[in-house]
Amino acid sequence: MTSRTAMNGQEEPRPKHLWIGGSWRSGADGQTFTATSPSTGRAIGTLQRGTAEDVDAAVRAARAAFNDYRLLPVWERAAICERIAQLILENEAHLAAVVSADQGKPLHREALPEVRKAATGYRNAAAHVKHLYGQTIPVEDPHKRVSTVRQPRGVYAVVTPWNAPVNIPTEYLAPALATGNTVVWIPAPSTSLCAVALAEILEEAGVPPGVINLVTGEGSVVGDAAVAHPDVDAVGFTGSVTTGRHIAHRAAGKAQLLELGGNGPTIVFADANLELAAEAIAAASFTNAGQICSASEVVLVERSIQAELGALVAALAQERRLGAPEDPGTSLGPLNNHDVADKMDRHIADAVDLGARVLTGGGRAPGRPTENYYEPTVLTGVPRDATLFAEESFGPIAPLTPFDDIAEVLEALQSRQFGLASAVWTRNMGRAMRVAEAARTGTVVINGPSTYWELHLPFGGGSGTSSGLGRIGGLQTLEAMTDLKTISVDLRGF
Ligand code: NAP
Ligand code: MG
Repeated sequence: MTSRTAMNGQEEPRPKHLWIGGSWRSGADGQTFTATSPSTGRAIGTLQRGTAEDVDAAVRAARAAFNDYRLLPVWERAAICERIAQLILENEAHLAAVVSADQGKPLHREALPEVRKAATGYRNAAAHVKHLYGQTIPVEDPHKRVSTVRQPRGVYAVVTPWNAPVNIPTEYLAPALATGNTVVWIPAPSTSLCAVALAEILEEAGVPPGVINLVTGEGSVVGDAAVAHPDVDAVGFTGSVTTGRHIAHRAAGKAQLLELGGNGPTIVFADANLELAAEAIAAASFTNAGQICSASEVVLVERSIQAELGALVAALAQERRLGAPEDPGTSLGPLNNHDVADKMDRHIADAVDLGARVLTGGGRAPGRPTENYYEPTVLTGVPRDATLFAEESFGPIAPLTPFDDIAEVLEALQSRQFGLASAVWTRNMGRAMRVAEAARTGTVVINGPSTYWELHLPFGGGSGTSSGLGRIGGLQTLEAMTDLKTISVDLRGF
């Protein structure tokens, strides 16, 4: 494949980055913005700053494409997904290089696995859509025969964040393609080069014109125009709670899948396998520099083992090599942007003010090309009134808060604002199940990292929490992105 993705030092920037109705074009008012590398601070490309007018053109293209695409046989839609998966794998080195340069994650350890996972996402959608069964339902009326069928909802607005810039879009684009929806996709500005690189693959795989449309630009402009557009039927959004709530209002009445923030907790009882627990906490807190919605952002630990567990996690933090994403030895890259680093500073300062102790890390690494290099941080004695206990930090942090008995844990689980992913460590299965059943999180991992997830498993926020609406993952997303239609036939009419 001849790549058109711009990355300075590699290729000339492509001037037209909006993909609408199958053609590449500039934004309506010709404005652009610069893609900046979080690791060097240098410009790595130029992107189009789209407008509401561009979104409108994209919605019209998606609407026009929907009429035919919804009728394309499901086996052919699955074949498109298979071709995308194949092309992603053939171009994995290029895609991973773009992800690593644009997002900041380590090339070999994280960007490449993310790209490979995205291929799996398209493969899964191709396979699962062939099992998206309806039902035949027995009825009282002897003349009627009733069945249900799943149909695409129509035009989707999909707004995605920057932390997994190929894989999170795939969570929506693959099932949309498989089920016959069409899409206006608004990627996060800080990883829009990744979006262009993925869209190039979709084009080469033969996604029909207008079925997927890419509009880059500011979320508050193009994202808002897309979710609120009167001719958009449904919305898929992954991002923060604040934006998610705003979108829920702007898209009121439309079908919505909202994957929002989370902050654990991971709960460790004194009888747990502490070495494994420490490894899991380090993995869940420091992978992707902690910029994962299911990260171990709050660790509730039985008081008698707090010091031991803290020391084990701190030792693992110190083993991490913070460095440039393209360096094969790097096991922790820079944060994607200043906002996350600033929030980390605030959260740590607040916790320390309230009495927490910094075992390792605690600030930005000196002498780096940008201020985004954050040391992996382990805290103990974090009190429950610390900001980070309630809010999402989204950086490389493992904060330990002691507890004395299970009643305290169960109470804490009920009062948490977030409800996305949690983990519990104990050798007592009864206790593990009590905690797992009490957690309001959409997923609970017993004796594993809170981030454990495979693409086909249901994932999402618990009701009554602020972590979102609906479930993504395999068949769940296919169901969420389709309408269930009931078809009744009266035999007497034939
Ligand atoms: P964010 O600030 O909510 O932004 C997400 C996307 O929404 C960006 O592209 C943003 O564009 C856009 N946006 C902003 N305002 C908008 C508006 N009014 N209408 C439509 N779109 C708008 O989130 P983030 O900080 O980039 O991403 C991190 C968050 O995502 C974390 O909270 C994390 O937990 C969450 N997340 C959740 C999951 C999950 O599966 N549950 C997975 C990964 C991440 P701009 O950048 O231009 O504002
Ligand atoms: Mg943002």
